[in-house]
Amino acid sequence: MTGWSHHHVIDLSSFSLEDYREVLSLAHRFKSLPSSGTRKLPALQGRLVTTLFFEASTRTRSSFELAARSLSADVVNFTASGSSLRKGESVLDTALTYVAMGADVLVVRHSSTNVAAQLASELEKSGETTAILNGGDGLHSHPSQGLLDLYTLANYFNPLNPEPEALLGKKIAIIGDILHSRVARSNLWALTACGADVLLCGPPSLLPKEFENFVDAPPPGQELDPIKKRGRIHIERKLSEVLPYADAVMTLRLQKERMKENLLSTLDRYHNDYGITHQSLKLCQKSVPVLHPGPVNRGVEMSGELLADRSICLVEEQVKNGIPIRMALLYLIAAVEAKKANI
Ligand code: ASP
Repeated sequence: MTGWSHHHVIDLSSFSLEDYREVLSLAHRFKSLPSSGTRKLPALQGRLVTTLFFEASTRTRSSFELAARSLSADVVNFTASGSSLRKGESVLDTALTYVAMGADVLVVRHSSTNVAAQLASELEKSGETTAILNGGDGLHSHPSQGLLDLYTLANYFNPLNPEPEALLGKKIAIIGDILHSRVARSNLWALTACGADVLLCGPPSLLPKEFENFVDAPPPGQELDPIKKRGRIHIERKLSEVLPYADAVMTLRLQKERMKENLLSTLDRYHNDYGITHQSLKLCQKSVPVLHPGPVNRGVEMSGELLADRSICLVEEQVKNGIPIRMALLYLIAAVEAKKANI
């Protein structure tokens, strides 16, 4: 164990290279466990992990639940529908209810930016030790997704040693609705921290020019960037300007629920210009892996044929890797006793 210092995990802008290394290497160890016959580790025995999801989720919530159970934690899942939110209870009071029930970790998802950070600061103010793990807040941040994408790429480039350095000098193309994507933002911090250059590609309505400077300064409230030298971000408008240089391609869902106005002409036109298919991948100079955080709109950001092509599409791999990555996060945050025992 080295210098892990995060009590809460809200976003990746404050992660050092050592933090990334620690999460990736722990996840890699956890990933190898099932094949060696061990199904559950006792690390979080007696700990309570609560998933507080105020916004829909398939992968993230189930994956956190499986991760927590694999470490022997107790798990309670809160879902907004059918809860006392309908009686007017606030998000903070909902969270405090689970804190009162003994939650050690609250995994929080909300459609508004900064809800996870606000809960973390409220808990600290009232002297509570419960940790907040951001499971996605509005369009701001989705750290566990950024980390599992990083691990999936590191594992692709260097399966024997999937460390942050596996990304050094790589060019990762991120395509589509960057503006509304918390996944893109988390990936920008993670990938550039590990020395990858990011090639962003999308129409101006979904990819404003300002994204080129996204990692140039730490976000408000954070004094320093712990990374000395980050990779660069470039913006292009056409697939033909990024795919020939890409070592990997990540495409993103059109976040229609976050679009306040109609930012697209038609879905057909979008697919034609930005859809990733076997045909558009011919623009690449070599065979490159394709990632998507899910859920996928088949035939919009990616073709159904490509989604089914396991030789290049890593979507299933991303889902699988989500579990050990979330185990690593839960372990680092909550398994103090196990850390001491150095399992
Ligand atoms: N599942 C990811 C998220 O929650 C990506 C998406 O919804 O498009 O942000």
